[in-house]
Amino acid sequence: MACPSYSRGLTELVRGILRLFTIQLLALLVIACSLPGRGAVSSGTTLTVAVLDVGQALAVAAVTADGHALLYDAGNSREDATQVILPFFRSHRIDRLDYLVLSHPDQDHVGGMPAVLEGISVSTYVDPVLPSTNRAYGETLRLVRDLRIRPLRAERGLVLELGAHVRAKILWPERPFILNADGEVSDNDNCVVLLLEHGAVRMLLPGDLETRGEAALVAREAEQLRAAILVVGHHGSRTSSSELFLSAVQPEVAIISVGKNNAYGHPHEATVRRLRAAGARIYRTDVHGTVVVTSDGERYTLNTQGERS
Ligand SMILES: [Zn+2]
Repeated sequence: MACPSYSRGLTELVRGILRLFTIQLLALLVIACSLPGRGAVSSGTTLTVAVLDVGQALAVAAVTADGHALLYDAGNSREDATQVILPFFRSHRIDRLDYLVLSHPDQDHVGGMPAVLEGISVSTYVDPVLPSTNRAYGETLRLVRDLRIRPLRAERGLVLELGAHVRAKILWPERPFILNADGEVSDNDNCVVLLLEHGAVRMLLPGDLETRGEAALVAREAEQLRAAILVVGHHGSRTSSSELFLSAVQPEVAIISVGKNNAYGHPHEATVRRLRAAGARIYRTDVHGTVVVTSDGERYTLNTQGERS
């Protein structure tokens, strides 16, 4: 339970950040309108995307050959950041992230965010701005403000350019937010959904989106959701990866970020069955360790890096 004064302070902090987000959003729209058209992917460009082994949590790192980088979620803890996430970027000689994206402010996604912000410089921080009293989230917003990082409120339709050849489309959330059964804003169903595009290679990151969010997204996107690689929603929970959603995505590869012997029973066996029925090859971080997808803009290859000791 968060104490009331902490919650109040956090609410004010979120309000302040929200105002900043709105201003930055307008600035970004102006920039987006003035960008030149996108040409074909030239040979020699490479995109590397790693679903990092951070146990029962999520952290997906994307790095381009020309030195651009994005991190989507930051695991559960400071250790996930210092032992897994930051070393990955160092090994790719990345010392600055173009984008740090938080899908939603749950501990298994935001826990390592403060340590990431302390460990590497960040140009733009992206967040759906959902109500939360999570301490790591409060710390994240404070660091974004104090380090003068550009905040951007995630909104369906925005596009994040990652160098000349890769872009991350924000497909979700959309306002008004989806409410849960108690009439409160649902964290999971309003999380940031990213579609990474590198030429013909497409990779979908739905965060912890569940059935209602999936249905709303399918209703709006129709054909556009198709992606060869799917980072499976909500760690393979029973309440994600509906048949409707999978029939729209048609994944060839499904990567599940999940902790060994986790208390949630993720991934659920029914979900694994649905993924197989959709024709996807399944990889799991608890079995395969970090899973790395490398794209040349036409084809992709997949490598696993073994479990963390
Ligand atoms: Zn999660």
